[in-house]
Amino acid sequence: MVGRFAPSPSGRMHLGNVFSALIGWLAVRAADGRMVLRIEDLDPRTQRPEVAAQLIDDLAWLGLDWDEGPIYQHERGDVYARALGSLDSRELLYPCFCTRRELHAASAPHASDGTYVYPGTCRRLPREERIARLVEGRAHGLRLLVPDAGTPNAVIEFDDMVYGPQRQDLVSEVGDILVQRSDGVVAYQLACVVDDGEEDVSLVMRGRDLLGSTARQIYLQRLLGFPEPRYLHVPLLVAPDGRRLSKRERDLDLGALRARLSGPEPLLGRLAAAVGFAEPGEALSADALVERFSLEKLAAHREDIVVDGQFLATLGGRGAPMG
Ligand code: GLU
Repeated sequence: MVGRFAPSPSGRMHLGNVFSALIGWLAVRAADGRMVLRIEDLDPRTQRPEVAAQLIDDLAWLGLDWDEGPIYQHERGDVYARALGSLDSRELLYPCFCTRRELHAASAPHASDGTYVYPGTCRRLPREERIARLVEGRAHGLRLLVPDAGTPNAVIEFDDMVYGPQRQDLVSEVGDILVQRSDGVVAYQLACVVDDGEEDVSLVMRGRDLLGSTARQIYLQRLLGFPEPRYLHVPLLVAPDGRRLSKRERDLDLGALRARLSGPEPLLGRLAAAVGFAEPGEALSADALVERFSLEKLAAHREDIVVDGQFLATLGGRGAPMG
């Protein structure tokens, strides 16, 4: 088994990132698998080497090690360009001139993840108009055609190891897929598929916010000839009001948590207890948790995990409870 950490260096790791990194690592180590570290820094706004370095240091502090990498996506432009070239040579791509504002105005919300179903505006552009705009030098992204309804791959089905059988209709629920943004940055969906494929990743473990991206990724794998990995999505960590924890909650980032704790064990134990791998109050290292990993227990914990003041208080250590 080959798994991966695929963090985006957009800020300090927070509790939610630690949780999915821990579960992914445990799944791989429990199966004697190999772990790859890939830094998802394609977006120039997130190419901050100091943030990536901090992330690597945080993983090491947690005791979550890896066997290969770090692989930096920003260095792999040629590889993604080859994949785009392969799709383009099969006439599967077209330029999309829609602005973000136009998309929001014209599109129906995506059922599963709040993104938008692309209505096909630029797919229908007459050829002359398309050429005229390209000649004018209008900014454009690239979209991948989804199959016509009723043809193979129009509906993608897969079995998530936690959330069970999934099905997505690419035509009515997704629309043509953005594979390169109008600023020239390769889209996450494409880069992720190419890298998982080239790194022989066989288990994709991540937060359930990406469950809705999986069908698009499987379609891309099939087009690019990569084998399909297994998928294991885990619940998100949420605030008591149901809001997803984010990098904005500074008291839950690893900077604050490391300042408070002398080692990672109480934190790892607490996160493991949330999915039944540890008893409440147990402090355990990542290594010690490997033998506690249980897919059955994980699959029985599909609900998002609420992090409240109590959650932090049970960690002990220095510092005031969360305000
Ligand atoms: N880079 C993404 C993130 O940090 C994860 C992508 C993935 O696991 O497929 O949210």
